[in-house]
Amino acid sequence: MPDDCLFCRIIRGEIPATFVAQTPECVAFRDIDPQTPTHIVIVPREHIPTLADVKDPLIVGQLSRLATDLAESEGIGQSGYRVVVNTNADGGQTVYHLHMHLLGGRRMTWPPG
Ligand code: 5GP
Ligand code: ZN
Repeated sequence: MPDDCLFCRIIRGEIPATFVAQTPECVAFRDIDPQTPTHIVIVPREHIPTLADVKDPLIVGQLSRLATDLAESEGIGQSGYRVVVNTNADGGQTVYHLHMHLLGGRRMTWPPG
């Protein structure tokens, strides 16, 4: 758990966040700069920098399950949503603690910018 990792600090409660779910393995909180009406960040409690650093793929399944559960509880399960894992610079990753974005509540376009 690096001292200077933003999401580790949120998990430790050192930086406030609006938590929407907590499981033994994962934490979910609202994005500080939401890009859609629903924008939740889902992170493993373990500090894993990027998707490419995942050793046990079970954690990706746990993040994914929490994303789909939250989509239902946020009321966007039927209307639709997007789950995104930005990875490294060209992928748009800015926080190097693995996270899934759950985005929904409006129609989105493809391809992404
Ligand atoms: P990335 O760009 O790495 O895929 O996503 C990082 C996300 O973290 C961004 O959507 C950004 O708005 C969000 N973020 C950055 N700082 C904070 C913060 O202090 N609190 C919360 N809740 N979200 C943050
Ligand atoms: Zn971290």
